[in-house]
Amino acid sequence: MSLTPQYKKWLKAKFKNRILFDEPISLHTSFKTGGNADAYIYPKNTQEIVVLIKSAKKNNIPFFIKGGGTNLLVKDKGIRGVTIDLQKHLNKILIEKNSPQKVNIAAMAGAKIATLTRIALKYGLQGFEFAYGIPGTIGGAIYGNAGTKLGAVENILNNVDIIDQNGKMKKIEKKQIDFSYRKTSFQEHKQPIIIKSSLSLSIGEPNKVKKNAKQIIKDRKKNQPSTEYCAGCFFKNPAGKKSAGALIELAGLKGKILQGAAVSEKHANFIINRSNATAQQILNLAELVKNRVKEIFSIELQFEVKIVGE
Ligand SMILES: Cc1cc2nc3c(=O)[nH]c(=O)nc-3n(C[C@H](O)[C@H](O)[C@H](O)COP(=O)(O)OP(=O)(O)OC[C@H]3O[C@@H](n4cnc5c(N)ncnc54)[C@H](O)[C@@H]3O)c2cc1C
Repeated sequence: MSLTPQYKKWLKAKFKNRILFDEPISLHTSFKTGGNADAYIYPKNTQEIVVLIKSAKKNNIPFFIKGGGTNLLVKDKGIRGVTIDLQKHLNKILIEKNSPQKVNIAAMAGAKIATLTRIALKYGLQGFEFAYGIPGTIGGAIYGNAGTKLGAVENILNNVDIIDQNGKMKKIEKKQIDFSYRKTSFQEHKQPIIIKSSLSLSIGEPNKVKKNAKQIIKDRKKNQPSTEYCAGCFFKNPAGKKSAGALIELAGLKGKILQGAAVSEKHANFIINRSNATAQQILNLAELVKNRVKEIFSIELQFEVKIVGE
């Protein structure tokens, strides 16, 4: 449902210069494509989000919570209702040493993974190796249990503060969340807004931690197209020995170009926006890949990238 003039007026009065109407989502996602967001809002604090959620619900307006936009493909007609971005104002990170071996980190959901990586390197903290080089926010990483073969968010999370779909604040302990490969139970229910998290890292030897980080980041740069417009691995790895990337490569699709989209030459599980691809063109290539892998290996690949909007 589109925004009514009255609701737009209310939003404008409430969020002033922190709201953008008909905002091109391509400016806010790593795929650099997709339609417009009806209203794109940077809330100043938690209380504003509660008010926004309650008013959206009352007026039957859908809302969408966006992180760094690095795991998203937004369709070409864009996102109806309100899109909420926490990156500008809900991005603080606080560290507390709570034992000689461990630190507790309170990270707001809009904080960048890269910021926490810098902190971990500065203080020689261990346990965050899996996240080195992953773009996006802490909130997005928690939602998708982001990670690599070195681990995942579930390994360091203690609890999260959320706002539910009715605008109620709750604390959710780790044991209440189901985690699996690139998945959390947050994805199965009506999506809550993750506001804040408590994470634990252990204290290591700063030089060792830095040396290790250098190697991990070097390996990522070698194996992944980190400077292209993309959203990371497009497909989840299926059960079995072969990764999605290996299957796509074996299907002869590495480097395949379709309209403005391409399968990366560097890593076959990355679909890239090579020249002003529309979201539909990226989806067309993803479907082609999916169908070809199914035909050859009888394996149904699942999207890891979240497809949103209309
Ligand atoms: C070059 C590149 C490399 C990548 N490598 C990896 C990798 O190695 N491992 C990996 O796991 N991922 C990887 N990714 C994908 C992506 O960076 C991660 O999944 C990241 O955690 C997504 O976070 P985000 O903030 O960008 O979320 P977004 O893309 O903005 O959103 C993703 C989903 O999370 C939800 N969400 C975001 N914030 C919140 C919140 N506060 N509360 C509730 N829901 C929220 C959104 O609604 C959406 O459904 C890569 C991406 C790129 C572009």
